Amino acid sequence: MRTPLVIGNWKMNGTQAMARELAQAVRDGLKRPRGVEVVVCPPFTALPVAAEVLKGAAVALGAQNCHWEEQGAFTGEVSPAMLAELGCRWVLLGHSERRHVFRETDEEINRKAAAVMRHGMRPVLCVGETEEERRQGLTFTVVEGQLRAGLAGLSPEDVARCVLAYEPVWAIGTGVNATPGQAAEVHGYLRGLVSEVGSKELAQSIRILYGGSVKPDNAQALTQEPDIDGVLVGGASLQAPGFITIAKKSAARSGPSKE
Ligand code: PEP
Repeated sequence: MRTPLVIGNWKMNGTQAMARELAQAVRDGLKRPRGVEVVVCPPFTALPVAAEVLKGAAVALGAQNCHWEEQGAFTGEVSPAMLAELGCRWVLLGHSERRHVFRETDEEINRKAAAVMRHGMRPVLCVGETEEERRQGLTFTVVEGQLRAGLAGLSPEDVARCVLAYEPVWAIGTGVNATPGQAAEVHGYLRGLVSEVGSKELAQSIRILYGGSVKPDNAQALTQEPDIDGVLVGGASLQAPGFITIAKKSAARSGPSKE
């Protein structure tokens, strides 16, 4: 059974005061979430306050990025050890804004994934094609390259600790989500690849999230797809009531389990 996972990516939003209020509201709205695991990823500067608010809560803490080195002359960067020390259990890696705005490479993302796991945290490896790549029929080629490179050299045990997120670039922050059918097609392809690079068992147990303009009114249709194991939510995670609704709508319902 793959427990659905819902992650809120606050991006570069949130003063201390806003983060405190938002984290409190999410915590209080999801005291005992049933059939769903929930994570929020505030910006680095808001992690301590969010960690304080979420201590002992059912909502876990994640970061939006990290460097792969332990420490040193990397001005402006944050290391996995620093995040682990704050109580982060998850780290988003290879988000399309990191890939496209900050020109992160697959190789860097792969080094980050290994580093995150060395510190006991779990990576959320994001993959996804641009609008132009989809138009050219390159969706599968692009996500395959990103997945293979992102997981390269990781042991099967480490791959089992990863979560994948399919986030078509054209759907992020645009208000235009992939249809459940479009997303399910790519999720099925990614699951097949995990079976190839890992094993059938791994492919059945790994969670693959969808991200891109997820809102309270489309979360359920997306997560009802058997291969969609939750959602990565950007803009809509900044409003606690909507995010809580998304989490509840993504929860595993009684019915066929995702096995
Ligand atoms: C994201 O930041 O990962 C994302 C999917 O953003 P949005 O939900 O705003 O499209």
